[in-house]
Parts: sequence; structure tokens; C-alpha cells
Amino acid sequence: MAKCQKCGREISRNDGFMHEGQILCEDCYIMIVNRVHACDPLAARAAQRFRKASGFEATKGLTEQQRAIYEFIKSRGKVTSVELFSRFLLSPQELENQIAILRHCEMVKGQKEGNTVYLTTF
Ligand SMILES: [Zn+2]
Repeated sequence: MAKCQKCGREISRNDGFMHEGQILCEDCYIMIVNRVHACDPLAARAAQRFRKASGFEATKGLTEQQRAIYEFIKSRGKVTSVELFSRFLLSPQELENQIAILRHCEMVKGQKEGNTVYLTTF
């Protein structure tokens, strides 16, 4: 018999779950795993750590256009999507896609000021 290292409940060896070196009962394991999944920033940070660890610079792996958008936002500090439209002449859908990729890579984030949403770099 082993004990769940979180709640102390006795568990048989076959019912235990290993999580980061701890034996947990099913309930505690599911709770922890769900929390990790529910918390996006955690997953994003892990992805970012991985990118750094593997020696990639932030802008590597981006297309020319994504890099140009990123550099533009970075040089301005913050921009509205209207400014991006007039600068890059993309369709709303194209621009949306490019921004989504940059956001996913934690390079660009939305920031609301009053009724205006700006894009800024991390
Ligand atoms: Zn437990």
C-alpha cells in the first residue's frame, strides 16, 4: 500500500498516478492535471521555456510578414489594428491569423485602454 502524497488516502500500487515524482490518488491526479490544462499561461510559459532552451531566438521560425508585424508593433510600443491594416494592407482575416500566431508565441498581446484595444509586445 502506498499513500497519496497530497490527501494521504491509501492507494494500491496499481491505482496510483505518478505526477512530478509524487504518487497521487486518481482524484488528486485529475485535479492537478485539470488545473494545469485550465491555466493557459502555464502551458504558454512551458512552451516559451522550451523555445529558449532549444536556442531559438524569438523571431526565428516566423515568416517575413509575421516578423515585420512584430517589429512594427515593437517600434511603436503599441498599435491599433487599424494602424496595422493601413501599414500592411492585409485582409482582416489574414491580419487576424498573423496576430493569432504572434499571440500564441507570446510575442504580442492585446491591451485594452478605454474602448480601444492595442497590440503590444511582451
Ligand atoms: Zn489524493
